[in-house]
Amino acid sequence: MGAIPEEPPAEGRLSYRSALVDRLRHLGEVRAGRLRLRMPRHFGFCWGVDRALAMVEEARAAYPDRPLWLLNSIIHNPRVNRDLLEAGIGFLKGPLAEEGALDRLGPEDVVIVPAFSAEVEEMRLLEQAGVTVVDTTCPWVIKPHKRTLKFIREGFTTVIHGTVGHDETRATCSLVRDAGGHYAVVHDLDEASWLGRFLAGEIAAAELRAGLHPGALSPGLDPERDLRRIGIINQTTMLASESRQVARILRGALVRRHGEEALEHCFRDFDTICNATQENQDAASAVMAAGVDLFLVVGGYDSSNTRNLARVGDDAGVPSYHIEGPHCLEAGEIVHRDRITGELVRARGWLPPGEATVGFTAGASTPDAVLEQVVERVVELAGERLVLPEAV
Ligand code: SF4
Repeated sequence: MGAIPEEPPAEGRLSYRSALVDRLRHLGEVRAGRLRLRMPRHFGFCWGVDRALAMVEEARAAYPDRPLWLLNSIIHNPRVNRDLLEAGIGFLKGPLAEEGALDRLGPEDVVIVPAFSAEVEEMRLLEQAGVTVVDTTCPWVIKPHKRTLKFIREGFTTVIHGTVGHDETRATCSLVRDAGGHYAVVHDLDEASWLGRFLAGEIAAAELRAGLHPGALSPGLDPERDLRRIGIINQTTMLASESRQVARILRGALVRRHGEEALEHCFRDFDTICNATQENQDAASAVMAAGVDLFLVVGGYDSSNTRNLARVGDDAGVPSYHIEGPHCLEAGEIVHRDRITGELVRARGWLPPGEATVGFTAGASTPDAVLEQVVERVVELAGERLVLPEAV
């Protein structure tokens, strides 16, 4: 496979609004020659991302003469992070990190904690360095944190439907460890069924460990001892329908082993999917129900909520592609993230010939300006022009 194209530099740094996308959002559906373009009712930047970026701007204004750092990616969108780097904000961790900067922090530095939160150990390190902290943690991310502390107090081990290594789940796991509790992370229905079979007494602890992702179980967790009572939470950006199935599998396993009446003692389930994630997924499902021939999902490849939006299309049996921006689209070829392998792959014949309905959506960390470029690129590659009806 040839080199994957790089995203070109953005124009209009730190300005992510798009008049075109605002208009498409309002209209819901427009024609561009042979193409019908269908937009969901909800997509793109969520409240938590808007808030985090506004707090970054406020910090830049409040501390114009002090070194400003991001602990890690502010959100999972490469363009936004690069823009912040070019605006003079350094990165302490992640792909844009300045080597050694984390060890050189002092009271002069201002450190911005991303919307996903941070590990307890990282927050302690910032405190010890005496830096000024600007914490943009989304309130929706704090919700599972609070719930897991309640589980620990009540003697439950936290089961997280999430992704091992995702920033938000890393932060939650560190909180559990720090509070003296235990966790088990299940990523999907397959991993939930391994855990379910263990809970039902159908497999041994060694088989459970083999069925889960390395690092899914907290250090020192003894499955026989620590998985007798479980409380479920979700990473805020998971696929809501899958989270409900995970809960059903685990609940069913405990009923098989102990009976329905034991649930009160050994099972808790608390939905912590955030509103924005839920709304975007529901709106994408509605677009699938209305009928599309092709579904383009725009967002960072490491964005959990964007990945799950692509699954909505897959689950509906619609050809769906998770792309990062317009640079992924060529006349005969598309570069996209394969949902199963996580690899970037090329596919040919992605744009149907003749009359076609194309559905679009964008993750909670995707600027409207990027979606606008994707829409324009699709119309251009179809050989059509997009002329919107006059606003009244
Ligand atoms: S996707 Fe949800 S949890 Fe994440 S920043 Fe947005 S509102 Fe907050």
